[in-house]
Amino acid sequence: MTHSTTSPLANLGEFGLISRIAAKVFTHESVVTGIGDDAAVTAISAGMHMLTSTDMLLEDVHFRRTWHDPYRLGRKSLAVSISDIAAMGAIPRWTLLSLAIPPELPLDFVDNYIRGFLAMAEEYQVTLIGGDTCSSRSGLTISVTIMGEQYPGQIVRRSGAMPEDDIWVTGTLGDAALALKLLESGETVSDKLLPRLLDPNPRVYAATTLAEAGLITAMIDISDGIMADYGHIAERSGVGGCIRLDELPLSSDFLSYSAHFPVIPYQLALSGGEDYELCFTANRNNREKVVGCAKKCGIAVTRIGIVSSSPGVTAVNPDGSSYKAQTEGFNHFK
Ligand code: ADP
Ligand code: MG
Repeated sequence: MTHSTTSPLANLGEFGLISRIAAKVFTHESVVTGIGDDAAVTAISAGMHMLTSTDMLLEDVHFRRTWHDPYRLGRKSLAVSISDIAAMGAIPRWTLLSLAIPPELPLDFVDNYIRGFLAMAEEYQVTLIGGDTCSSRSGLTISVTIMGEQYPGQIVRRSGAMPEDDIWVTGTLGDAALALKLLESGETVSDKLLPRLLDPNPRVYAATTLAEAGLITAMIDISDGIMADYGHIAERSGVGGCIRLDELPLSSDFLSYSAHFPVIPYQLALSGGEDYELCFTANRNNREKVVGCAKKCGIAVTRIGIVSSSPGVTAVNPDGSSYKAQTEGFNHFK
């Protein structure tokens, strides 16, 4: 009897793996030709523009195999891209997945990763239309490209914020950053907090509903902390802003953990990464409509500050003094 020395992944090979992926793909009527040809063919809805975004996820830079189980890593690697399309007020439609896989990676890991990726795709009606598959000599490298569509007048950019607009956020801030801090310190993380880091929900429904209702002037998804990400809105809009610390939406888990964990809660809520909530601006006359729209979408929204005409973004303590926030979010080359 001979024993094969090759791994299950090597036995399957590049094309075996691609077929395995292709067999489980959710399809949509907009996909004319999906996986299996030299290029995918898709039909954009009449009158709509196409939106495109791409992201890389690198082992030990964006994720650790010890913390991120493959299923949730698969979900998250698509969720963060869906979030980018949502942040433009657009509908995510098609995705490309490129993988550089270390040959020794267990086939089980790959299968569960794909299962998670395709579950997220189906949840948001996104079709995997292609990608690339290679072997990697270092860690697992994931590259996700996503395309979406929207009518030109309903696309929301970072550049539309006007002085005196309200600054809003969805959900709660800082949960993912706190979960990461707890993991890094070897602490246990509650079942409510952990998914905020490992399995974020992109806010597509809320974003498209607000955009289609014409209620908002600018929008971004919060991946690097509200200070940095609102900072991008401010910069692109040629405005500034004031964020009130006592208005920041914090979850009950965040509050109870941060009470007995030696971190500065505001710092995490302002500059921690990976919330994948939305930050948007809206004219103050639309306050009630924004709240009504969010309610319809089943999501909490909180007014956290005001857009200013003078540049610079400040965070303000309850007593009115300015809080010295570390305004920069995560930056790869620092
Ligand atoms: P080419 O040699 O033209 O680059 P490939 O052999 O790389 O084609 O890919 C064959 C088909 O499989 C293409 O449709 C490609 O988009 C798709 N594909 C390759 N890798 C993946 C992947 N990881 N996920 C989804 N589709 C993939
Ligand atoms: Mg190829």
